[in-house]
Amino acid sequence: MTRVYIQIEPLVIEMDGPLALNTGFRRGLIHRTVERDADGLAYIPASSLKGRVRRACEQVARQSGLRVCHAPRPGGMCSAHEQACLVCRVFGSPGRGSELHWQDARLAQDYRSVFSGDEANREAQFYARTQVQLSRGLGTAAPDRLFTSEFTVENLEFRSAITGWLDVTPIAGDDTTGGYELLLLLAGLRLVNTLGSGSSRGSGHCVIRPPEQIALGERPIRIAEVLENLELLGEFDKEAGNGN
Ligand SMILES: [Zn+2]
Repeated sequence: MTRVYIQIEPLVIEMDGPLALNTGFRRGLIHRTVERDADGLAYIPASSLKGRVRRACEQVARQSGLRVCHAPRPGGMCSAHEQACLVCRVFGSPGRGSELHWQDARLAQDYRSVFSGDEANREAQFYARTQVQLSRGLGTAAPDRLFTSEFTVENLEFRSAITGWLDVTPIAGDDTTGGYELLLLLAGLRLVNTLGSGSSRGSGHCVIRPPEQIALGERPIRIAEVLENLELLGEFDKEAGNGN
């Protein structure tokens, strides 16, 4: 096992349409409000981004036939006393943190300039849409079933980064490409095509674009080079002596 410092920066998130994030807060009649940073600008919290990428990585790992524990229920996840599954090795589990740091995804600079300044500019980032929630059982609509959600305007661009230490398991003895751990992370990032809530109603569609090259220790490496090993991902459990 080798420890490497990785830098995936910038991680560009291009929205295709509006974005809705469920903050759990209620502002006036609006039931769901988009997260705002200290400048009043829309952002995607690191925890939302990380959680979504984790789910994508679980999907990739399962498709490759790997053992994957049952997040996010802490009792279903790998414990500190057993061999962690590949997903927990990248994202951490209760009692076993990850030393990868996920940055909040902030609005890209061009958009920051447009929406900064006065209140009217800031509010131009958002719009509200009212929907009717019908009771499935009764099929009735009542005024208190009006549900107003908040969205960002379409096609915003955000920037995040993933940096920090990763313990990597060499692929066929080779640790120069970041091992199975980096391979899984990059494959998962590529798979994510929605963020936030309400993707079934047309919001939250996105593409995540990592840079073409990322830093692996002192050395730059092309993402395409890492992903060339994707067929070998399923060998992780055998190589790590996991679950066999
Ligand atoms: Zn696990």
